[in-house]
Amino acid sequence: MLENAAEKLKSKKLDFIAANDISTKDAGFGVETNRITLLFANGTKENLPLMSKRTKQRKKSSNTLQGCWSDMRILVMSDIHANYTALTAVLKEAGEVDETWCLGDLVGYGPDPNAVVEEMRDIKNLTCLLGNHDVAITGKMPLETFNGDARKSLAYHEKVISASNVDFLNSLPSKTKVRGEATMAHGSPRDPLWEYILNTLTARLNYEHFTTPWCFVGHSHIQCMFALDEKKDRVTLEQTKPDLTIQLHPKLILNPGSVGQPRDRDPRAAFAIYDSEAHTWTPRRAEYNIIEVQERIRAAGLPEKTRRPHCRRMVRFDRGR
Ligand code: ZN
Repeated sequence: MLENAAEKLKSKKLDFIAANDISTKDAGFGVETNRITLLFANGTKENLPLMSKRTKQRKKSSNTLQGCWSDMRILVMSDIHANYTALTAVLKEAGEVDETWCLGDLVGYGPDPNAVVEEMRDIKNLTCLLGNHDVAITGKMPLETFNGDARKSLAYHEKVISASNVDFLNSLPSKTKVRGEATMAHGSPRDPLWEYILNTLTARLNYEHFTTPWCFVGHSHIQCMFALDEKKDRVTLEQTKPDLTIQLHPKLILNPGSVGQPRDRDPRAAFAIYDSEAHTWTPRRAEYNIIEVQERIRAAGLPEKTRRPHCRRMVRFDRGR
């Protein structure tokens, strides 16, 4: 019984369990989502909530706590776009995490498709979605679907990418994925591969397409958040601030921004840290050597400026727009 419960707890990545007044010699325990049940030898049981580190800190001085808590730090990132230098900067800056969730577009635009896919393949506890640029590399979508600059880089990637890296991209899901309280999509829950959520109207329409409290999307390369006020049926858009932690509440659509090619006027690599136990989201940025990447883009004969797919404006990734 105890071994069984310990296995379950391990799979839930709990730091540890402490039950101050209870000896595990005469007590067993079982696990449900967000709660732990202590089963005593005399047949009685007690339900305790699992707590995040944040709750633990808040209650540190309290004697009443029979400490059971967990913490789940998840790196959420998207749109790496074959920029290996930016990816390694993000992985370093994020530090130790329990899981990594990537919302797609590992390839396209940048000079390092193989290095990026190989780095991603090595990440432990990875959940990764397929992006529209990744689909093109797997040969399931004609390159003509893309605009001139994106097409040029995809044609280059198609030539240089290894067969095993294509196999990896082929194994990724093209639909939405639900993990706990979060729905993940590359573009939008309504049209996972292609739709950009850039305005409140598109965001509003997408609220009909997920049932979890929050949804994480990439694709637009803009670090931001949409919030639905259900009473007023109104959606607002906020450009979130790096390092400013947001306490999550229903119904939010959050975008971690782009690792390899930001388009929100901040050229630093973008990502977010999601704590699925404390329900927090912290947008972050990582500095990296942009000039060195630009030189490699030039050397590979790839377009230095790219046209935004959804409008005619050009993107210079050293300016982040
Ligand atoms: Zn993208």
